[in-house]
Amino acid sequence: MSARFVINSLDFVNGSGRHCDTIPILELVRLHDWLFDNQGSLIYELSGYVDKNDKLYLLLKINGAMNLSCQRCLNKLTHTFDLQTILLLVKSEEDLDLVDGDDSVDAILATSELDVIDLIEEEIILSLSISSRHPEGKCNSNLPRTHKTGFTERSESAHPFAVLANFKKTN
Ligand SMILES: [Zn+2]
Repeated sequence: MSARFVINSLDFVNGSGRHCDTIPILELVRLHDWLFDNQGSLIYELSGYVDKNDKLYLLLKINGAMNLSCQRCLNKLTHTFDLQTILLLVKSEEDLDLVDGDDSVDAILATSELDVIDLIEEEIILSLSISSRHPEGKCNSNLPRTHKTGFTERSESAHPFAVLANFKKTN
């Protein structure tokens, strides 16, 4: 397990902080429900900036690829992503409520311990809900059905007769 990367979000933004790193997909534990396997990694860049109205922003860029399980056919779906999110950093719950009704702004509450990996998982999960299946009609055409499914169907119908045949032979 790698250490979690935690920042003081206000200090980070006020100091125009910038941080880049690579994370193996394996370590993004909250994504595991969506994954076909643990292959791949992602690269992220987190930077902070203050605009001319003294508003504080976190800019998060995430690039990478991972193998999802298609939500329809459960086969492997290689998903590449290139996410860019701008988060307005607000200092109180009241400020958060103020921007809550504004769909054009994503805001988070400033905290002295912002878990960056957690934030990355969050952003990826948000992006997955619309893209975690093959395009319409593409599910079984270019991929074989999983061996597991075929095997189960065959063995369910064939097995009782096979047992019966063996039973007759031994008598
Ligand atoms: Zn599919």
